[in-house]
Amino acid sequence: MSTNMKVLDTFRLDGQVALVTGASRGIGAAIANGLGEAGAIVYGIGRSAETQTPGAFEYRECDVRETAAVTALLAEIAERHGRFDILVNAAGITLPSGVERDAMTSFKRTLELNLTAAYGCCLAAVPHLQRNGQGSIINVTSIGAGLGFPGNPGYVASKGGLAAMTRALALDLGGQGIRVNNIVPGYVHTAMTQGSYNNPELNAARAGRTMLGRWGQVEELAGAAVFLASRAGSYVTGTDLHVDGGWSAKGL
Ligand code: NAP
Repeated sequence: MSTNMKVLDTFRLDGQVALVTGASRGIGAAIANGLGEAGAIVYGIGRSAETQTPGAFEYRECDVRETAAVTALLAEIAERHGRFDILVNAAGITLPSGVERDAMTSFKRTLELNLTAAYGCCLAAVPHLQRNGQGSIINVTSIGAGLGFPGNPGYVASKGGLAAMTRALALDLGGQGIRVNNIVPGYVHTAMTQGSYNNPELNAARAGRTMLGRWGQVEELAGAAVFLASRAGSYVTGTDLHVDGGWSAKGL
């Protein structure tokens, strides 16, 4: 990194090229917008035919479980821009199931998307990042990656696995200048959490469990992603960046 660079300039992503999964709404859309506002050329993907989010990114319809489709899209993007720098795995589902009769189906579906598909996106991105000689992969995990939550072992296992995969890839790719990190959100108001957000008792319980006494908003995840993607985070790899209002650090 240039030593005469002003610190705010190190957060800029001008000319860099990014792909954000799960960008049709929620956290993925906010991160895609944030990277775009920081100067990156950003592509966002989701299954929805169109996104309602007017964004600083180009939206493409793509199912992340289709690794061949993601690989083809990344090849197209890298060819068009002559480079590829940043992958954000934000696509995710939650299928609360506990130990009910269809629990194994829910478990497998959750693992398939939240963990296996994220690995597929990494595999698709790594050759392009290697050609660059540098890059950043950001995986969106959850406070559930490190803590027990009720009624959803598939989600907890998928996010714990994703967090562990990040550390493994950070080691395998660090020598090639590719950094891999986790963003660890707490409860953020999105479509995924609308049910508990709308329930006054559950809403208050989740807010009260944080140090800040409130839920997160999607825009509050964007700065963390820009930091991890940019030269500002150039010596940060294999780690968890908690954006959880203090949930994970709180004792009593
Ligand atoms: P959300 O509003 O439900 O958004 C989920 C995104 O994933 C959507 O864009 C959805 O798009 C996409 N997606 C789902 N299946 C997909 C597939 N097969 N292929 C491509 N995209 C797919 O959820 P969110 O709250 O923003 O969550 C984003 C990430 O943050 C998830 O990984 C979630 O586990 C994590 N997280 C969220 C919270 C929270 O409190 N909200 C807390 C911790 C972690 P389509 O439906 O269009 O495919």
